Amino acid sequence: MTKATSTTGRDMESELAFLTRALKAPALRDAASRLAERAKAESWTHEEYLAACLQREVAARDAHGAEGRIRAARFPSRKSLEDFDFDHQRSVKREAIAHLGTLDFVTAKENVIFLGPPGTGKTHLATGLAIRACQAGHRVAFATAAQWVTRLAEAHEASRLTDELTRLSRIPLIVVDEVGYIPFEPEAANLFFQFVSGRYERASVIVTSNKPFGRWGEVFGDDTVAAAMIDRLVHHAEVISLKGDSYRMRGRDLGRVPAANTGE
Ligand code: ADP
Ligand code: MG
Repeated sequence: MTKATSTTGRDMESELAFLTRALKAPALRDAASRLAERAKAESWTHEEYLAACLQREVAARDAHGAEGRIRAARFPSRKSLEDFDFDHQRSVKREAIAHLGTLDFVTAKENVIFLGPPGTGKTHLATGLAIRACQAGHRVAFATAAQWVTRLAEAHEASRLTDELTRLSRIPLIVVDEVGYIPFEPEAANLFFQFVSGRYERASVIVTSNKPFGRWGEVFGDDTVAAAMIDRLVHHAEVISLKGDSYRMRGRDLGRVPAANTGE
């Protein structure tokens, strides 16, 4: 390389550094010189080189966006579908989860309901699906049923329930974990029903519950409210029932854990 070109090269490098900083595009900056070598070696057209550089920046931004959505969703822990051991959990079909993993249900504004005793993987699968949704660009919010109800009650207190319900109905996927662990007061049951109704055919929910539908009357303190709720949730939904002992007890010679009376 002659002295002249190397000076020009250095000028060009600082110019690119300046421009990519102004564009807030660090991945573009990193890609530009690396890809220039390849472009020369492989005789890319100018357009091919430009597209390759921009693709790097877009990919970096997508990945960053997914991270942000995962953090914003407030998952209790990071669990992926890839980490789920289907050989241990035989009552759920790998194909059924793989199909849900395509996120067609989010696009179709349908629901997913995981039912089963504690420790069978409901929260894990709900989180795994929801993380997929974050990665695919959907906004997600995760909380337990009790936490959602607290949030709604606070909004109600502050006379902004309608706003809150509207805001929540714009989040494409909400996870409601642990329906049934704590029975609802009538006021809470009513708020929860409004929440579910507000999303009906508008946005998706993933619900997990340790109680079969037959016992939701106890959860909501009223069979009619429970029936209306189940109707709304299940109308467009994939219901997946998990069976078996808690995964936490696997391989421990503790004898069988007494099965929770799920009243099925
Ligand atoms: P649930 O919500 O049904 O009570 P979790 O999904 O919280 O159960 O599962 C309990 C723990 O066991 C979690 O740490 C979860 O990641 C793990 N777990 C449960 N089932 C499986 C499985 N089939 N493969 C891998 N990990 C599992
Ligand atoms: Mg759980």
